[in-house]
Amino acid sequence: EEAGLLRYFAIDDAKRMLKKRKYDGYKNYYGVDLLVAGSAQYKGAALLAAKGAIASGAGILHVSTAKEVADLLPLYLPEAISEVRPNNLSHEMLKKFDAICIGPGLGLDMDAYHCFLDVIEHTDCPLIIDADALTILSNNIDLLDRQKRPVILTPHLGEFRRLCAFSNDDDLMEVAVSFAKEHHCILVLKGPHTIVTDGQHSYRNASGNKAMAVGGMGDTLAGIMTAFLGSHYQAIEAAMLAVFVHGFAGDLVAQENYTVLPEALSKVIPHAMYLIE
Ligand code: AMP
Ligand code: MG
Repeated sequence: EEAGLLRYFAIDDAKRMLKKRKYDGYKNYYGVDLLVAGSAQYKGAALLAAKGAIASGAGILHVSTAKEVADLLPLYLPEAISEVRPNNLSHEMLKKFDAICIGPGLGLDMDAYHCFLDVIEHTDCPLIIDADALTILSNNIDLLDRQKRPVILTPHLGEFRRLCAFSNDDDLMEVAVSFAKEHHCILVLKGPHTIVTDGQHSYRNASGNKAMAVGGMGDTLAGIMTAFLGSHYQAIEAAMLAVFVHGFAGDLVAQENYTVLPEALSKVIPHAMYLIE
């Protein structure tokens, strides 16, 4: 397969990729995952991401977040374990996780910056970097180049511009592929027909629609991806399957709704996955 080749990822690909639930599967088998998200300023993002993860089958989900969020989260999502984010996240605290996602609503203050450094330096499990954590990363891109584990970046176009200089004439697929190659990461460049590439294999997503242009939609995607990344998928598979399921669930909601609210999307994920399986 040529890098950069236009290859759509559609329902048949998702059917082939989605693993059946095991008859004797236990919650730990489906991943012990960590979401580092939310701040006093942005309280909703952590909840939306957590809802996406739980709905997608995450076994156990911890949410490390600001006190303002940790106090409320169990009321809205009792399935998640919410914890007030300490000043320092040690390797000891972080080593039990199968997958970590950092960024939604994290903020850009010094606390967020130190928290990002702790996660990048004190963990070695597969990692998703989204939202504010991408902005922090864009000023410290060498941190990415030092990573020895699978790392998935999920920028929208604005965030990607901060990570990577390119001009309006450049072909986005080519820019995305060379970025993934250069930094040895998986790049999920979000938009209509989101691009997913690891520099070798590249796909465009066939699901999703214009009714999904709503705040919080990317946070939901980050949560879905966390669930897959923590449960026996290769990182590129987790990225692609999450992007497809997210869009497919959005398509189901859009059949009878003018806008797709992130919470409505998460609500239909179990059914969307049932249809795919
Ligand atoms: P974010 O900008 O981080 O909130 O992410 C937005 C999410 O919604 C991404 O997964 C996009 O692919 C999706 N999205 C937003 N607008 C559209 C659109 N017009 N068509 C399809 N997907 C969209
Ligand atoms: Mg976002």
